[in-house]
Amino acid sequence: MARAKRPDASVAVAKPHVKRGDTVQVLSGKDRGKRGTVKSVSPKNGTATVEGLNIVKRHTKPRPAGGAMSSTEAGGIIEKESPLRLSKLMYVCPKCQAPSRTKSEVHAGVRERVCRRCGEVAERPGKG
Ligand SMILES: [Zn+2]
Repeated sequence: MARAKRPDASVAVAKPHVKRGDTVQVLSGKDRGKRGTVKSVSPKNGTATVEGLNIVKRHTKPRPAGGAMSSTEAGGIIEKESPLRLSKLMYVCPKCQAPSRTKSEVHAGVRERVCRRCGEVAERPGKG
């Protein structure tokens, strides 16, 4: 992986199409085709962290207890998820289990995400 990170201004302001708890499929990169559950979304950065995907290995040194960190960290190689670009993620409908685009529909004044494939209402978009 020698590719440089390139700035992608187009995604920074876009409203995330996924939210925490969603199942998503990765469209590109080393984890292409894999699915996972969104752990957190960062609209500001246009990224989301997906459980079990885009794992990076962190080589860390042991930290002594009583330092600035409250707990002692063991040294070694820690595997940790790193954020993925939202544009690389596609929402997976819980009903038809297919990567789908969603549309917004307003029902009784509440905006809902609806699967374009099966018409199933994905749970209401909320905070988080
Ligand atoms: Zn569906």
